[in-house]
Amino acid sequence: MTLPPFPLFATCLVLGLGLALGPAMASDPPAKAESKTDSKTEGKGEIKIDLKPDLSKAKVERRTEPEPEAEPKGKAKAEAKADPKPEPKAERKPEQKPEQRPEHKPESSAEPKQPVSMGELRDMIESKISEVRATRGPAPVVRVQAKGGTRQAGKAQDKHAKAAGHGHWSYQGDTGPQHWHELNPEFKQCGLGERQSPIDIREGIPVELDPIQFDYKLSAFRVIDNGHTVQVNVEPGNRIVVNGRRYELVQFHFHRPSEERLNGRQFEMVAHLVHKDLEGKLAVVAVLIEEGKGHPIVQQVWNNLPLEKRVEQAGLQGLDLLQLLPEDRRYVTYMGSLTTPPCTEGVLWMVLKKPVSVSAQQIAIFSRLYPMNARPVQPQRDRLIKDGQ
Ligand SMILES: [Zn+2]
Repeated sequence: MTLPPFPLFATCLVLGLGLALGPAMASDPPAKAESKTDSKTEGKGEIKIDLKPDLSKAKVERRTEPEPEAEPKGKAKAEAKADPKPEPKAERKPEQKPEQRPEHKPESSAEPKQPVSMGELRDMIESKISEVRATRGPAPVVRVQAKGGTRQAGKAQDKHAKAAGHGHWSYQGDTGPQHWHELNPEFKQCGLGERQSPIDIREGIPVELDPIQFDYKLSAFRVIDNGHTVQVNVEPGNRIVVNGRRYELVQFHFHRPSEERLNGRQFEMVAHLVHKDLEGKLAVVAVLIEEGKGHPIVQQVWNNLPLEKRVEQAGLQGLDLLQLLPEDRRYVTYMGSLTTPPCTEGVLWMVLKKPVSVSAQQIAIFSRLYPMNARPVQPQRDRLIKDGQ
């Protein structure tokens, strides 16, 4: 009756033992910390000996991670270097490891970047490092990520430049519009885009549109046959203002027959006047062309056709650009794309509803160079078309 039951007695014994050993353990905090982790990770009795396997283990894990880790690497290196204490063996190890890494870098930098798991990875490595540095002060963090980022950006640019090197396109056969998106990775919008141009413009919503304010002047110009069309590059200073936005005329060029259709009707030709605003946004004014009277501006351009392709020829006199436009400048508008590779979207289209005329002879001159340089119409999908009344 006076003796406590056995379990309680045993507990008292264990408690007594614990109290006796307690002070000794507390006097050695690192050992205590280690012994804790010991139960989970095998082979971790001593601090110093433990460092190597621990870090190399971290490295192995890192190697298997799918993303590059410029920061953790650099950080480990920076910390190792910044550590003022001339630590023996254990400290040297992490410093050597980053130096082996160049062989690892190229493959990892080619892999897709995943910022989220990179953060996790960093945390993991940091916790490993701090585990073994528990008794030391925090080392300064030196960020080397920017460097790695630049290198990656540089690589991407190289790729970009290489891709731009090929991808000859045309309006027929294997390099025709049906294949544009296959010719160059940069042309993928031509196949995947959902707001492509040209379209058959029909069923627009009849509304009052802000008139396009044409601020054109007599301008110096240069004609170039760029291998896809006849293009006229104009000097700066010609602008349009529409919906409060100002765009600068960069160039205009021709297609035969017209790329866009109005209620199914295709015209003999079209002139595309390409404008750009300060943010780089494009706005194209399309001037439809039918056969009729000769056009003085078109004639002036033809007169200055260069004898060789891809060589600019300066016009002898200035070009009166306003004369290129019909008197009635009501238009239909929708959002589309460039009609040539890379088929970039986000282009504001304004198609003047009234055509201008050029003579049969003027059409024939262009036909000798480009009998057909029109992209087929693209699906309208659910795009809004506004039809200015
Ligand atoms: Zn065009």
